[in-house]
Amino acid sequence: MQKLVEGVHRFQAGEFGRYRDLFRKLAREGQKPHTLFITCSDSRVLAELITQSQPGDLFVVKNVGNIVPPAQVVGSTNSTAAAIEFAVEVLRVSDLVVCGHSQCGAMEALLHPSRRTGSMPHLEEWLRVAEPVRQIIQTEYQHLAHEAERSTAAAEENVLFALENLHSYPSVQQRLAEGSLYLHGWFFKIATAELFAYDPGMRQFTPL
Ligand SMILES: [Zn+2]
Repeated sequence: MQKLVEGVHRFQAGEFGRYRDLFRKLAREGQKPHTLFITCSDSRVLAELITQSQPGDLFVVKNVGNIVPPAQVVGSTNSTAAAIEFAVEVLRVSDLVVCGHSQCGAMEALLHPSRRTGSMPHLEEWLRVAEPVRQIIQTEYQHLAHEAERSTAAAEENVLFALENLHSYPSVQQRLAEGSLYLHGWFFKIATAELFAYDPGMRQFTPL
C-alpha cells in the first residue's frame, strides 16, 4: 500500500503538471474516447502504456481473460456487456479492440480444468463462458506439442471468439451496419511488447 500512496504523491507533485490542462478540459467537456479497449486484468497488460494513449482516449474494460460473453449471457457473468453497450451506444466509440496476451493465466486455467481449485465458483462460471475456445484447442490444435503453444493458440482463438460474440449485441450490429464502428482483434506478446492484429483476409495474426 505504501508504494501506491507514494506513487499518488509523486504523480501529483510531478507528472500531473503535464496533464493539468488536459484533465481540466476532460472534466469540463466530458469524455469522448475513440476506442473501447477490452483486455485482460493481467497486471502486465497496460492498454494506455502499450498504445501510448492519453487520458480520455480509451474506454477500458479489463476482465479475467478478456472474455466477451455472447449478449444472451446475463447476470453477474456479464458486466462486460454493460460496458460494451455504453461505449458503443452512448460514447459512440469508432473502434473496438479486443486484446489477448501471451502467458495468460486465464487461458491456462481454461485449458486445464483439473488444475483449478474448487474454491472459486465465480471464476469457474466465468471460464465456462469461454468453453468453446477450449473445445477448439482440443479438436484443432492437438498437433501443438508444447503447452505454451496451445496457450498462445487459446489466447488467439479467444480473441476471435470475442469478436464473434460482439456481433450478438444489437448496438454493435447496428453500428457495424451503419459502417461507423470497426472491430479489431489484437494479441500482445509480453516479453517483447509486440502487438499483432488479426487479419481476416490472411486468417492469422500479423505484426501491427
Ligand atoms: Zn490474461
